[in-house]
Amino acid sequence: MIFLLIKSRSLNLYSYSVAIEIAAYMTSATIICGFGFGFELCFIGLTILAFFASYFSKFGKKLIKPLPIGLGYMILYIFVFVITKFVNPYPYDFPLILKDVLYIAHSIVVFIFVLFFMYIITNYILRLEKNIIRESEIDKLTQVANRNALNGFFNNLGNEKNHYLAAIFDIDSFKQFNDVNGHLCGDYVLKEIARIAKENSADDFVSRWGGEEFVVISKIEGDIGETVKKIDRIRKSIEEFEFVYERKVLHSTITVGVSEYYENDNLDQWILRADKKLYFGKNSGKNKTVF
Ligand code: GH3
Ligand code: MG
Ligand code: MG
Repeated sequence: MIFLLIKSRSLNLYSYSVAIEIAAYMTSATIICGFGFGFELCFIGLTILAFFASYFSKFGKKLIKPLPIGLGYMILYIFVFVITKFVNPYPYDFPLILKDVLYIAHSIVVFIFVLFFMYIITNYILRLEKNIIRESEIDKLTQVANRNALNGFFNNLGNEKNHYLAAIFDIDSFKQFNDVNGHLCGDYVLKEIARIAKENSADDFVSRWGGEEFVVISKIEGDIGETVKKIDRIRKSIEEFEFVYERKVLHSTITVGVSEYYENDNLDQWILRADKKLYFGKNSGKNKTVF
């Protein structure tokens, strides 16, 4: 019956039948042989199995309620204990050593069972947690860091912030891509621009600030002028790039504002200062880097 259930890939029913089978065998074994052979320990293992099955079958029908089931096993454990006080075990003269050996063997089995499931479940949860954190820091469309991740990066810089420049760039006349070729074309241009920015930023931090604006936090290498040039490489690469959308060749440019870090700036203050440079650039012809 169990093998049929595995084939139908029904984890819920599979766990139920395995648990019921084991519980039935172990209850009768404990009553027949008496308490102390370790058969009763399986109820601890089964409690873990109930939680495991409940967690991993969460996408199916939620049949397993691990808490009442675990409490049920606890009651069963006490029940067989009480029963063995009143019902004499099967009158077979077990050598004492056999009782000990069976108890140890059962303990080992239950320990391995618990270790195995706890190992799998903690690893699974840790991986899941890592993925969730990663997802929460990446912009879905462009796959660069989002604002949440930028905040984290800024905070992690600690006292090193004055070794960095903040650049904010905005795509020039971006609305025309949406208006002329549709929103999907705008999305395509955004993705490509994010990719080019990343490719030209080496170890610098590229993030989507919102809409069609991106923020790059760039480490000052050599003098500030060199670093501004390094940032300007992003602008140049975008200017030279041929965007191909539905066989149409398109061109795009960006305007960049760059600012140094001032003591006690928070992230918004720092970016706002760069943003002012950006708007100066927009009003004086676009497609330029202003520092
Ligand atoms: P300017 O040169 O002054 O920056 O002009 P602009 O057209 O780029 O600026 P404007 O602020 O008028 O337009 C920005 C547009 O960006 C408006 C908005 O619909 C579009 N946009 C923002 N986010 C997205 C997005 O995720 N996908 C697409 N396709 N468009 C977006
Ligand atoms: Mg804008
Ligand atoms: Mg724009």
